Amino acid sequence: MTGIRSLTPPGQPRLLSPQPRRGEDLAAYLATGGYPAAPGPEHLLELVAAAGLRGRGGAGFPTAVKLRTLRDAPGDTVVVANGEEGEPGSVKDRWLLRHRPHTVLDGLRLAAMTTGAVRGYVYLSDPHSADAVRRALSERPPEVPVDIVPTEHTYVAGEESAVVRRIDGGPALPTAKPPRPFERGVGGVPTLVANVETLARLALLTAHPDAAAAVASSYLLTLSGGPKPSVLAEAPAGTHLKTLADHADRSGSAAVLLGGLFGGLYGDGWADLRLDHDELVAAGGALGCGAIHFLPPGDCPVGAAAHATGYLAAQSARQCGVCVSGTQALAGTLAALSRGDGSEEDTGNLRRWSLGLTGRGACGLLDAAAHIAATLLRHFPERVSAHQDGPCPSCADAPSHDGSRLTVTVP
Ligand code: SF4
Repeated sequence: MTGIRSLTPPGQPRLLSPQPRRGEDLAAYLATGGYPAAPGPEHLLELVAAAGLRGRGGAGFPTAVKLRTLRDAPGDTVVVANGEEGEPGSVKDRWLLRHRPHTVLDGLRLAAMTTGAVRGYVYLSDPHSADAVRRALSERPPEVPVDIVPTEHTYVAGEESAVVRRIDGGPALPTAKPPRPFERGVGGVPTLVANVETLARLALLTAHPDAAAAVASSYLLTLSGGPKPSVLAEAPAGTHLKTLADHADRSGSAAVLLGGLFGGLYGDGWADLRLDHDELVAAGGALGCGAIHFLPPGDCPVGAAAHATGYLAAQSARQCGVCVSGTQALAGTLAALSRGDGSEEDTGNLRRWSLGLTGRGACGLLDAAAHIAATLLRHFPERVSAHQDGPCPSCADAPSHDGSRLTVTVP
């Protein structure tokens, strides 16, 4: 069972409410100051910009910039609450939709009012989340029409162009950019696709403007890895990964896989990394959706890389030739290395591919696979070399690389 921990300072407004396993109903949400009279669009834009809120779906783009771009767009616009959580090691979005649907819908309402959107959508694949959102919508009908759009649960279904394509009746598969959804989205009009945590934080900081910066800079995180129970946590910016590991009972971990499968592998020194967008980017990483996978002592980063890229290769939408061949090549070579069947030439190929494949697909899946290979080579060169002489004990015992050990259950 996945545990729940809050590391935010006492008194700070937070998304992990005091009773996080209880679903939020309208009365409970109103009692916390929810659905306040919306501040004027300019006022809210300034509040969000000053608080420094960034998107929580993956790329960490400044939310105020996205909101303003849509507000300045001519004609009708649309807003989407994106609750499709394709990263296998992340549960925070489904937890939010199941347990804090009014907070998410309040954020969607504020985004719509700020941008002047004429319609909203909640996009998700989890049936329990859909039930909770449906209930919340019936308790308080929204100011703008909101539809729930179900999708399939895949790694790429939550990518923003896949979201638009699915809402427009197509398959949940990414498209080439440009145009990006803010230029041409649902029904051909400019569209804001916002992660549900981003919207929930927008609602929380609007209800607590005095604590806006603290709300905007805290993170929902999924901490997993090894046989111990995973943990859904909320922590303030600046928290060291060591502190997170201590709270998740994973202090002795050998390495971490950051950002779901998006932020790469880190070994020595991982404990000193901090929750900070700029610092993690400067370190060559990313927090992505806030999923952090701790490798238990004795676990092998080569095996973890093979496992993660194997999962990505299986999840490739098989639209871009370079992704189909690239992810298969990365995953196959890493699997061979982990079995002890790899050669010096394979390691050279991995290095070449990890540099040359980035940015070549229509979505970030190929980038994620290439980044895992690149960070494995950068941070664990001895472990990679050693596998050319045979598998380590951990890899010799490893089950198939099917992604199963990366998956976390929703608390
Ligand atoms: S990069 Fe891969 S997963 Fe992404 S759209 Fe292309 S084929 Fe699909």
